Amino acid sequence: MDLGVSLVGITKRFGDTLVLDGVDVSVPQGSTCAVLGPSGSGKTTLLRILAGLERADSGSGTIGDTILFDDRGTWLAPEHRGLGMVFQDYAVFPHMTVGGNVQYGLPKGNTARVAEVLEMVGLGGFESRRPGTLSGGQLQRVALARALAPNPAVLLLDEPFSNLDVALRVRVRSDMHRLLTAAGVTTVFVTHDQEEAFVLGDLVVVLREGRVMQAADPHTLYHEPADVWTAGFVGEVNLLDGVAHGSHAATTVGEVPLCVSAFGELTVVIRPEALSLAALTATNAADATVEVVEFYGHDTMCDVVHDSGVRLKVRVREHSTRRGDRVAVSYIGGPAAAFA
Ligand code: ADP
Ligand code: MG
Repeated sequence: MDLGVSLVGITKRFGDTLVLDGVDVSVPQGSTCAVLGPSGSGKTTLLRILAGLERADSGSGTIGDTILFDDRGTWLAPEHRGLGMVFQDYAVFPHMTVGGNVQYGLPKGNTARVAEVLEMVGLGGFESRRPGTLSGGQLQRVALARALAPNPAVLLLDEPFSNLDVALRVRVRSDMHRLLTAAGVTTVFVTHDQEEAFVLGDLVVVLREGRVMQAADPHTLYHEPADVWTAGFVGEVNLLDGVAHGSHAATTVGEVPLCVSAFGELTVVIRPEALSLAALTATNAADATVEVVEFYGHDTMCDVVHDSGVRLKVRVREHSTRRGDRVAVSYIGGPAAAFA
């Protein structure tokens, strides 16, 4: 049985504000879809419409062959949609034990299933613990266990890591990734965090002011963004003026190969790691000055001012670059995206 999720033409207004404008999202069964967008772009509203907690003005939603809602008046109540949900604040009931929380929504006395899902999220034996005695990461996993307990066809997560501090967030995110992959459940999760969307999403849908800018796998989004805004939203970027002459464009950093052949003036999207810095040698002439060096351990980000006045972000692997160095900048990346 196919249990993929499909939302088609979702439109929603709150008063005069158009919050969702014809949003399409299609999630193959067993995969994870990240809806990525800035705060206020309509992510939570979209998730609430899928869950049946909000009604769309128009559009339809299905899980496999089951129509959740459509423009002809079909409406499946939230509790019949086969969805598990984890929202931002976890909503773990503080007055109930961990076991009681997970039991909630299951047929009475199904302690075997409670034990099973607690085991699955790494909280085996935690049944009688009180939420007040757990860490943020553990609470988050209780909420996940409760959502997974009834064996939902689809799991919905709304910014599930935003209440965790940075170090914990990365760890819990990896745990969650492993769990979702193991459970094989179709998942739709929303986040404003590009890194989170890339790590967890098989597919990423980029939402801006209620409109889908692009839907693609993370690699495609990063290397072939649909427009300049999306390019900048999914990663650090240099936007360079260029003049295209077919497969390449002439820019401040030399000839850059293009994803799509073009002619004339355009803006070329160059990621910081697609540039390299060489120290002055007999064979190259320095054409830029290093202004800021930020050391990240795994790499180093340099702010460089080209002699033409253009500022460039350059990510380098070695850590020998110093502020004030004279360097030669060159392009070492693959085909770049460009927009007229
Ligand atoms: P996100 O989750 O991406 O931050 P939301 O879906 O929460 O965005 O909100 C999108 C827009 O809709 C915002 O401008 C928000 O103020 C507005 N909005 C959300 N819910 C309501 C509501 N119940 N009534 C009126 N406006 C709302
Ligand atoms: Mg939200």
